[in-house]
Amino acid sequence: MSDAPLTKDPADAASLAEDLVVLDSVNKHFGALHVLQDINLTIKRGEVVVVIGPSGSGKSTLCRSINRLETIDDGTITIDEKPLPEEGRELARLRADVGMVFQSFNLFAHKTVLQNVTLGPIKVRGVSKEDAEAKARTLLDRVGVGNQADKYPAQLSGGQQQRVAIARALAMEPKVMLFDEPTSALDPEMINEVLEVMQQLAREGMTMVVVTHEMGFARSAANRVVFMADGRIVEEAEPHQFFDNPRSDRAKDFLSKIL
Ligand code: ADP
Ligand code: MG
Repeated sequence: MSDAPLTKDPADAASLAEDLVVLDSVNKHFGALHVLQDINLTIKRGEVVVVIGPSGSGKSTLCRSINRLETIDDGTITIDEKPLPEEGRELARLRADVGMVFQSFNLFAHKTVLQNVTLGPIKVRGVSKEDAEAKARTLLDRVGVGNQADKYPAQLSGGQQQRVAIARALAMEPKVMLFDEPTSALDPEMINEVLEVMQQLAREGMTMVVVTHEMGFARSAANRVVFMADGRIVEEAEPHQFFDNPRSDRAKDFLSKIL
């Protein structure tokens, strides 16, 4: 994340035109279950894509495939024109380009907040401890938990932990951030503090893939909504079009249940 906020105004159309994450004919099975069915999806640099759909439709598997936490059976996934490598150092480096924030906060319980944020940059990016700490403190300030740096995760609220998880991902300077239901495990009063951090990131031009049931966030932050059902992308549209005028029966049915 750069200090200068990047705007999303039309003058930036050139930067928006660049493909950052490309999934081409991606298929994946879990045994007999065809969990990702011929997925074609392109995410442009600076774009915010919200993925919604019923439970079990493959949203998490899609995210995990982009981060290579899951292997795919066929098709290709490229990030910044580089195909996802199978394993080894290349994979570690490529995975560092993809920040991921999960539903459960996944912080290291036995490390302080500051250590949680500095670990990746020191180990994977080879950043000095001093530089990593300075950067971590800046990021923790930005997500509003600068005064919690020396605490342990269990001493923080869920909303604070999730903001630390976002700072930890950002510390690696990822090219794209994946959020898999980042607010689903939070008490209601903490949801907004996390969504606000995500809104801010979106405004600053971060490329984001967000699986969420927060339709207010989808409407205000997404450039595009991707609706999944039964392992397929059933519909893709701008948020106002998707929410006000869904085309598919599956999407209409889904929206009638959640809105
Ligand atoms: P969503 O995130 O949309 O709820 P998931 O991607 O988590 O969906 O799961 C899609 C389907 O794949 C579900 O039917 C789920 O039970 C199944 N699934 C997910 N992970 C595994 C796994 N590791 N092994 C077997 N089946 C899985
Ligand atoms: Mg899921």
